[in-house]
Amino acid sequence: MIRQKIVAGNWKMNGSKESIVSLINGLLEMDGSSSEVVVAPSFPYLSQVDELISASSIVLAAQNVSQEVKGAFTGEVSTSMLGDFGVKYVLLGHSERRSLYGETNELIASKVKAVLDFGLTPMLCIGETLAERESGKTLEVCEQQLQAVVDVVGIASFEQMVIAYEPVWAIGTGLSASAEQAQDVHKSIRAFLAKTSESVSQKVQILYGGSVKASTSSALFQMPDVDGALVGGASLDAKEFIAIVKTAG
Ligand code: PEP
Repeated sequence: MIRQKIVAGNWKMNGSKESIVSLINGLLEMDGSSSEVVVAPSFPYLSQVDELISASSIVLAAQNVSQEVKGAFTGEVSTSMLGDFGVKYVLLGHSERRSLYGETNELIASKVKAVLDFGLTPMLCIGETLAERESGKTLEVCEQQLQAVVDVVGIASFEQMVIAYEPVWAIGTGLSASAEQAQDVHKSIRAFLAKTSESVSQKVQILYGGSVKASTSSALFQMPDVDGALVGGASLDAKEFIAIVKTAG
């Protein structure tokens, strides 16, 4: 099965009105790519980025969303608000949300449901800590994180989702998983989904995230079950991000 590659930049809590103009202008110099290129700015900049990319094929993502539809939830942002600004993807379950903001598998599953109900595409992040990897629990952890979502939205919904395998020990550390390590886990994720639905397992795009750079992305993208990358730090540098996109073809 041919799956289109996705290269997504998670800008995290970085940027200003000024720096975003120059970052997007840099990205607009990119030649056409067969991959889907996605950027995820912080909420206040969604409108600005939406306008700046309007004549390009770059796609907009948000970094989080509320599980609630509307109402008295001070400080929260709803799926329909994201829809107003042309957002397609919503990052959910990022390890920073899990570890710093106490987001549980159950809360993440309810956010996935809210995103799907509104017709946007969840980009569901899963992955193990170093301690979990060292004690041989990588697959158990990934499967638990996936199962919690399957329990709420059902396996068929994964056709409308993207999975990002992001080992916690590789995020922001400069320690990328090797292409082989990523492939092993991606293949196992697909095998886990295939136990319930072979067709879903073949269709769902599985991105790798964790210290991806242009020097490592080429080997990652050659792996049969790696369908792109979720890039943090390196996505703040237009030249580096474009170089990563180029390695995806
Ligand atoms: C991320 O935040 O999703 C990420 C993968 O970050 P980095 O590329 O900086 O490790």
